Amino acid sequence: MKPTDTLGRPLQALRISVTDRCNFRCTYCMPRESFGPDHAFLEREALLSFEEITRLARIFVGLGVAKLRLTGGEPLLRKELPVLVRMLTGLPDLADLALTTNGVLLPELARDLRAAGLRRLTVSLDTLRQDRFQVLSDTDLPLSRVLQGLEAARAAGFGPVKVNCVLQRGVNEDEVLDLAAFAREGGHTLRFIEFMDVGTTNGWRMDAVVPAAEVHSVLASRWPLEALPHPEGAVAREWRYQDGKGEVGLIASVTAPFCGGCDRARLSADGHLYTCLFASDGMDLKAFLRAGHDDAGLAALIAARWTRRGDRYSEQRREQTPGLPKVEMSRIGG
Ligand code: SAM
Ligand code: SF4
Ligand code: SF4
Repeated sequence: MKPTDTLGRPLQALRISVTDRCNFRCTYCMPRESFGPDHAFLEREALLSFEEITRLARIFVGLGVAKLRLTGGEPLLRKELPVLVRMLTGLPDLADLALTTNGVLLPELARDLRAAGLRRLTVSLDTLRQDRFQVLSDTDLPLSRVLQGLEAARAAGFGPVKVNCVLQRGVNEDEVLDLAAFAREGGHTLRFIEFMDVGTTNGWRMDAVVPAAEVHSVLASRWPLEALPHPEGAVAREWRYQDGKGEVGLIASVTAPFCGGCDRARLSADGHLYTCLFASDGMDLKAFLRAGHDDAGLAALIAARWTRRGDRYSEQRREQTPGLPKVEMSRIGG
């Protein structure tokens, strides 16, 4: 039973948020005004346990999911995360497991994650300037910790690490070439992401988006680029530096949406299933799971939900849509 949605899209990827907490307060994701000391984060018992996550992951794999990504919030804040990684890498038929992190805890954890079987890492890095980093991430942790995290990943045997950079007009757009040079030298694959109107608290405005086409021309004017083939469902458009110094990706989620090939579901830390990053509500899978449904029953519920899916928010984005009710990125899993 491999469900397809109302637009013929299969279910092939699942992002699993393991916590809604974070040690950063990035202004575009968890602005401190909304995620301050009074914010009600999920209680421990509301979180899916590792056994529950693994059981659901196995069911999703049975429905056609080949790729899992652990995310959050900051996934490395979840205690004993390598234990979960080991449980997931033990799933038969899972082709790919990846993790997205802000990198700060990699010096402590990279080795254990690798030993647990993780092969793919994405680290978020929006600036190479400490003063900017402090403002953008709104944390007292230094940028050097993220850079050490990248080094720790290398030392632990992770191959090329993907580096995600969200660009904002007037904030860090002037660092495109510096970030690209950093990634080229370090052997990382940089991906520039357009600033998105996820959630309702990040003050998104269209004029703060730096279009991927603009980033492409800035990069290409310095280093000639050659387009790589674009596999169906891939989020990033990828280019190869013609001088052989690696690759760079552009994720044009706003200016060139890719809903047509979107095969991703999201499982929040409290066990809700969301079928779009911009969803306003999800299906409470944890409630079904804790009510005693067996695997076949859960699979049928997930398949039925996917079969009804018609999400294509980014293709429909209009002036009014950024203000619609939506779940926050830190909750739904970025
Ligand atoms: N804390 C981890 C991290 O920052 O890598 C994982 C979770 S974070 C929500 C996942 C990714 O979403 C990060 O690369 C982050 O930059 C990106 N992100 C968060 N808010 C965004 C927004 N409004 N627009 C575009 N990307 C965003
Ligand atoms: Fe935390 Fe990642 Fe969101 Fe930044 S982008 S606040 S690091 S979850
Ligand atoms: Fe997928 Fe929703 Fe993003 Fe479109 S807007 S690509 S459907 S997550």
